[in-house]
Amino acid sequence: MNKDIATPLRTKEILNKYGFSFKKSLGQNFLIDPNILRNIVSHANLTEESGAIEVGPGIGALTEHLARSAKKVVSFEIDQRLLPVLEDTLSPYDNVKIIHSDILKADVEKVIKEEMLGIEDIMVVANLPYYVTTPILLKLLNDRLPIRGFVVMMQKEVADRITAKPGTKEYGSLSIAIQYYVTAEIAMVVPKTVFMPQPNVDSAVIRLIKHDEPPVKVISEDFLFEVTRTSFAQRRKTILNNLQSGLPSGKEKKQLILEALESANVDPTRRGETLSIQEFGKLADALYPHFG
Ligand code: SAM
Repeated sequence: MNKDIATPLRTKEILNKYGFSFKKSLGQNFLIDPNILRNIVSHANLTEESGAIEVGPGIGALTEHLARSAKKVVSFEIDQRLLPVLEDTLSPYDNVKIIHSDILKADVEKVIKEEMLGIEDIMVVANLPYYVTTPILLKLLNDRLPIRGFVVMMQKEVADRITAKPGTKEYGSLSIAIQYYVTAEIAMVVPKTVFMPQPNVDSAVIRLIKHDEPPVKVISEDFLFEVTRTSFAQRRKTILNNLQSGLPSGKEKKQLILEALESANVDPTRRGETLSIQEFGKLADALYPHFG
């Protein structure tokens, strides 16, 4: 087996060889601990037949572990300066394709069709750039890609919000926007010492596995997400008050909202953070004819 990229010594050697300086604005905190990398990959349950999609390979630390476990790895990197580095560090692996692109602008579905023909099991596995974690996840979920799920590193605070259950202070519209598509759990909490440079925040790896069916069927998914955002606009307010200030104005607005709450079996004095996705789904459908 080749020497790991992700040891502190080898990482420093590679960075020196290319005179590479980290760009904070691109969320460049590279992993320098092979054990953490093995753990991340093991949470993805890849087989020799699997495909892995990576966002931000950096100098290839995680990429090479994916290349050892999966049939094919496709990795999107925005920073052009890393392309020659990756060509060098990943030269022992012939199953890796690096695509120079901002993941937020990439047509990932097209890339999967072209690069992963015949591969049925695909996971997104990444140490995400923290400045853009949520937009990346929401884009990849909204793209409805033919994937099994995600194993991704992010800021712990965001991981807590994504995986939060109703009734907790972390639970909010982000929990619902993600858990509508996937089951979400924290796979491990990661110390700052495994990164170079060390980030200012704590980190966690989460595992997201796509539902076969959404947890609730709704008339409009966009409207469900609008209702959840509105319901959490001011966390101390009741759901009635938040809906009253957030939904478009119209005749008998309060009465219509009260009727919708009643038909969804939701007490108007409850706060958004106590409602399950199923309850938000029923509420969104009851509001839809008047406000959708
Ligand atoms: N995977 C490497 C590791 O674990 O050591 C690097 C992870 S580092 C946290 C994030 C990587 O994402 C960097 O290489 C950065 O250049 C890249 N990146 C940042 N924004 C990106 C974007 N919008 N699209 C693709 N890659 C991006």
